[in-house]
Amino acid sequence: MATKIKPQPGIMDITLYQGGASTVAGHENVLKLSSNENPFGPSEKARAAVSRAAHSMHIYPSTDHASLRAAIAETYDLNANQIMCGNGSGELLHLLAQAYAGPGDEVLFTEYGFAMYPIYARASSATPVVVKERDRVVDVDAILDGCTKKTRLVYIANPANPTGTMLGQAELKRLADGLPDRALLVLDGAYAEFVDGYDGGAELIAERDNVVMTRTFSKIYGLGGLRIGWCYGPQEIIDVLSRIRGPFNLSAAALAGAEAAIRDRAYVEKCRAENTRWREWMATALAEIGVPSDTSTANFILARFGSEEEAEGCDAHLKSQGIVVRMAKGYGFANCLRITVGDESACRRVVHAIGQFMGQR
Ligand SMILES: *Cc1c(COP(=O)(O)O)cnc(C)c1O
Repeated sequence: MATKIKPQPGIMDITLYQGGASTVAGHENVLKLSSNENPFGPSEKARAAVSRAAHSMHIYPSTDHASLRAAIAETYDLNANQIMCGNGSGELLHLLAQAYAGPGDEVLFTEYGFAMYPIYARASSATPVVVKERDRVVDVDAILDGCTKKTRLVYIANPANPTGTMLGQAELKRLADGLPDRALLVLDGAYAEFVDGYDGGAELIAERDNVVMTRTFSKIYGLGGLRIGWCYGPQEIIDVLSRIRGPFNLSAAALAGAEAAIRDRAYVEKCRAENTRWREWMATALAEIGVPSDTSTANFILARFGSEEEAEGCDAHLKSQGIVVRMAKGYGFANCLRITVGDESACRRVVHAIGQFMGQR
């Protein structure tokens, strides 16, 4: 018998998000380069802080996250009152759609945008609107053309996932200034820390009331398993989001780990420098063996193969070598593999294996 209990419109149109694979049958020492995780893991100081937090697991965590917000504000020179912390930046991206979009409203993102954006839109019963990119780069004109009176949110990851490309400050400004009155620009800065000198949108926010940025501890800080992110935006928007988040959305262990991680600047610098160095090495080495990629500003590259069949063949070969990368087919790139920048040995290993595959062809 069909149930009369029905979810809100749009929810049954959601296809489940697929995370990066982490296992290969028959391999114990899998090299996982599928989820853009930090190959060095978290800072020692973060590990120690999480261990200490284990002693007081019976105590409810802070609900205002004041200590972590102060650490974020100091680190990035921001106003602590305009910061809100979430259970991963995913929670914040989701709450933004919940708070600002509903039935009849449009949520805009680009054709190769992060796979969660359509899910956030549909979960709020809003209408997802997809616009084209230009040569695998977010196209400001296409976004402005795609906006209507119904546009409430525009999600852009900068740097973008899975392309690794990004918009410069002038283009971001042009986008923010060109949006219709009721549309909020959400700058997803999951990879912002990998770009030297990029503020993730802080300056735009200081001068406008229609921009919010989200950031995460899952990527450069190496804390994806703890689930911590934050957002920064106009006070009115932070006040709105604060009303609908769970009062204890971050565990005490997550709060402690994140605060220790963000204060360990030397470690972050090391991770950024290693990433830049090995990303460039890997992109150059792959280009030399016939696998080009766009210049990436993040901690992964989108490796382009000659065809879907070649990309699938290479993926299968990597798996046979115990290496897991991300098929980019779900993002509209059937001929590409997204490869996380690992440490030196990981980069050498994956390049070597791709070289073997290309050599056999
Ligand atoms: C990894 C990633 C995130 C981070 O999500 P968390 O919930 O903070 O772990 C957000 N946006 C993009 C584009 C990502 O690639």
